Amino acid sequence: MNTNSKIYIAGHQGMVGSAIVRKLQNEGYTNLVYRTSKELDLTDQSAVKAFFESERPEYVFLAAAKVGGINANNIYRGQFLYENLMIEANVIHQAYTAGVEKLLFLGSSCIYPKFADQPIHEDSLLTGALEPTNEPYAIAKIAGIKLCETYRDQYGSDFISAMPTNLYGLNDNYDLNNSHVLPALIRKFHSAKINGDKEVVVWGTGSPLREFLHVDDLAEACFFLMENYSDGQTINVGFGSDLSIKELAETVKAVVGFEGKLVFDASKPDGTPKKLMDSSRLRKLGWKPKIDLLDGIRSVYDSVDKSGW
Ligand code: GDP
Repeated sequence: MNTNSKIYIAGHQGMVGSAIVRKLQNEGYTNLVYRTSKELDLTDQSAVKAFFESERPEYVFLAAAKVGGINANNIYRGQFLYENLMIEANVIHQAYTAGVEKLLFLGSSCIYPKFADQPIHEDSLLTGALEPTNEPYAIAKIAGIKLCETYRDQYGSDFISAMPTNLYGLNDNYDLNNSHVLPALIRKFHSAKINGDKEVVVWGTGSPLREFLHVDDLAEACFFLMENYSDGQTINVGFGSDLSIKELAETVKAVVGFEGKLVFDASKPDGTPKKLMDSSRLRKLGWKPKIDLLDGIRSVYDSVDKSGW
């Protein structure tokens, strides 16, 4: 890529896409292309075809997806499978047809088997059953990885895929039913502090272990991979250490300054017991994250708009 390259960021209003846009702008890239979901429905094959034919981007960051936390994944199962399959199939195929030079597809750590050896290596893909709560989403993301891999094999397309761990940062979703755990906890503790509540309910047992990466670190990694990685094998993008949901809740509680107690609602699902990625493939290429979890949570809490909570 050079600063005049025409780059399409699919999903530029989402947490990941907007972080990639910020990174590219900071690096001096000026020829960026994007469309809101109203302007271009990525599940519509003919609309995506027309878009690629008229815009002819040289590079594509595919960060558009239907995403959500454990509850949304579990409830909107058909929608998560269908919409993600359609987005990937349309964008990846039209990128190939339009002769895009390079495409980066973003997946998720939930593509790996529920009981994969930890830390989870890229080679554990398709070696065991998936976590049921997010199986539809994971199947769609696995299809996206395989599209990149097979288009590289069959057509020589320089399409790569990266698997980020659980993410947080600017432009996250704070809807309590549909969000991921970190934004949900930030909102719950903040509201409890403001309302003077005595307790905050945390879903599940608190024992699952999760790894969290700030989305600005992910955007740095995506930029780095676009510049330096051209391999059919998917590549993990993780932080390098994990903590329990209970520890995470204690950390958020301290950052927010809530003084009540935590109550665990074990009727809610825990999901995968542990999900720590082996990111050594990426580390060996010279990339590492810069934002430590406590600093990341503090900056998110300070900057997020809490007015609608
Ligand atoms: P996952 O990593 O795919 O399981 O997705 P989540 O980020 O939604 O959930 C991670 C873990 O946090 C699960 O064990 C949840 O049960 C737990 N958790 C605790 N409280 C909450 C909450 O308020 N919202 C969400 N989404 N998860 C929570």
